[in-house]
Amino acid sequence: MAPLYIVDAGTLFSMWTQQQPEAMFATTDRILDEIRNRPTRQRTETLIGLGRLRIGSPGRESLKQVEDAAEESGDIPVLSHADIELIAYALEIERLEGGIVVVSSDLALLNTAIYLGLEVLDPKGQMKEGRQWFLQCPACNQVEEKETRQMDCPICGTEMKRRVKHKRNLR
Ligand SMILES: [Zn+2]
Repeated sequence: MAPLYIVDAGTLFSMWTQQQPEAMFATTDRILDEIRNRPTRQRTETLIGLGRLRIGSPGRESLKQVEDAAEESGDIPVLSHADIELIAYALEIERLEGGIVVVSSDLALLNTAIYLGLEVLDPKGQMKEGRQWFLQCPACNQVEEKETRQMDCPICGTEMKRRVKHKRNLR
């Protein structure tokens, strides 16, 4: 199944969405409000008209979860409220439907999304996909260099947690 792309303002400002003729997108009310540039506004409204761009806003609980994750990852000082909302909205859709990809060229936004276990795509290619984490067992600290989202510890069987690798070097 094709992924649903969760897009930030920078992605909507770029021509990236036009290069994905079959794709489905989603973003938040706040990001839509941020788009004042007329050609971008028109492209965005066309996508909404075609039913290819969903607009929503996240609930309080997922906002809190993203804020907590961004504090742990060290990204909170440079994330805007719009960024936090977008990640929280992505998290909610991922939980309900799965199969989303967060599209942004903002490295702090991408880093926080990765920290929360979301798939990311940077159209500018500054961040390589899916190589920023490893799995660590919370019980015995066994480390596995795998790109899977979930696995049980081969030593003790505890569910391993995904950790961000070299997170300080990402921006
Ligand atoms: Zn273990």
